[in-house]
Amino acid sequence: MNKENTRILKGDICYSTDKNTLITVPDGYLICQNGLSAGVFPRLPKQYDGFPIEDYSGKLIVPGLVDLHIHAPQYAFRGFKMDLELLDWLNSSAFPEEARYEDTEYAKKAYTIFVQDLRKSVNTRACLFATLHLPATKILMELLEQSGLETFVGKVNMDRNCPGYLREATGDVSADTTIAWLEETAGIYSHVRPILTPRFIPACSDRLMERLNQIQKEWRLPIQSHLSENPEEISWVQKLAPQSRFYGDAYKRFGLFGGDVPTIMAHCVHCPPEEIRLMKEQGVYIAHCPQSNTNLTSGVAPVRLFLDQDMNVGLGSDIAGGTVLSIFRSMAEAIQVSKLRARLVDDRLKPITMEEAFFMGTKGGGSFFGKVGSFEEGYEIDAIVLDESRIPHPQELTVKERLERFLYLSGDDWILHKYVKGRRLF
Ligand SMILES: [Zn+2]
Repeated sequence: MNKENTRILKGDICYSTDKNTLITVPDGYLICQNGLSAGVFPRLPKQYDGFPIEDYSGKLIVPGLVDLHIHAPQYAFRGFKMDLELLDWLNSSAFPEEARYEDTEYAKKAYTIFVQDLRKSVNTRACLFATLHLPATKILMELLEQSGLETFVGKVNMDRNCPGYLREATGDVSADTTIAWLEETAGIYSHVRPILTPRFIPACSDRLMERLNQIQKEWRLPIQSHLSENPEEISWVQKLAPQSRFYGDAYKRFGLFGGDVPTIMAHCVHCPPEEIRLMKEQGVYIAHCPQSNTNLTSGVAPVRLFLDQDMNVGLGSDIAGGTVLSIFRSMAEAIQVSKLRARLVDDRLKPITMEEAFFMGTKGGGSFFGKVGSFEEGYEIDAIVLDESRIPHPQELTVKERLERFLYLSGDDWILHKYVKGRRLF
């Protein structure tokens, strides 16, 4: 232990140890050694006497937030056509806008704005969809690398049922472009990792899925996609993959649904019991995206069921189905929509608690990256120091109350300082 590789942060510290337990340590000390937590203490342990302290007394310090599902190219058109359902929105907004990224000048402009905002935001980790365009995806990766955030990025695969202007000619063209992308970016980045990204079953032919399975085996990559988001989409998948027992089975048949393959599936709103069982068995991560599911009339995922079975669940902004980057907002909305679901759909599923929502947005999603999303000993230190100055209050509040109202009242970048993997970004 020496001063050079030790950081000490002082402030009002909050973090989850499990989905029901939120630890708060007012005026505490977070010790970070070589980028990892050495614990949180109410008083500075003796062995650190004389070490420099980054003193944020009176400020909240919490783990950086994790966005398990976001479409980087869609940031440029968030907030458009939010009165449509999923498939209409894809055809009239998402697809034509994503096609612009064939133009690398446009991609540079749009991704620069996006990455600047993501860097300033309360999120420290993200799993991102790019577009099908190889040069634009490399531009995004380069910008993210410079930002210092820790991310997974996927060049999107799509070779059917999409407009000609945003479709790869065949499954082999799509797969070969993916291999070229992996080869051209291999070993270049320290903070950006590739992730396989078939858009969703309707947009991926069997041939493409077979090739992605081979690529997965060869490159040992994780995978991200969409699952059981919208009733119309689900019956379409049933027609396209009649051999599959349910949507998730259409991925499983190609070896791309958990098990040895770290997998994130966004949405999971309308999963039949068999699909939920398979997700649990295979350790599939669910990216719950309450804002997007509301905007695109998809419904409300039964997150209570997932949490009670200790399945892997995190939160996603799903920009531009969702419109707000901050995962604090997703936490608040996860609670809100779970209440609507309990009232309108099924009152046996109790609404999500604040502890559970905070857990999903930190340690729950963070575990996809390893020991991330908590301040327990051995965890990688992603930390944010929050700016509460814009929401003054007349009364005394506990640390937990201050955190809770931050979920509901704060903006994307109400943050003073940000640390990722022990590095201070600002
Ligand atoms: Zn999505």
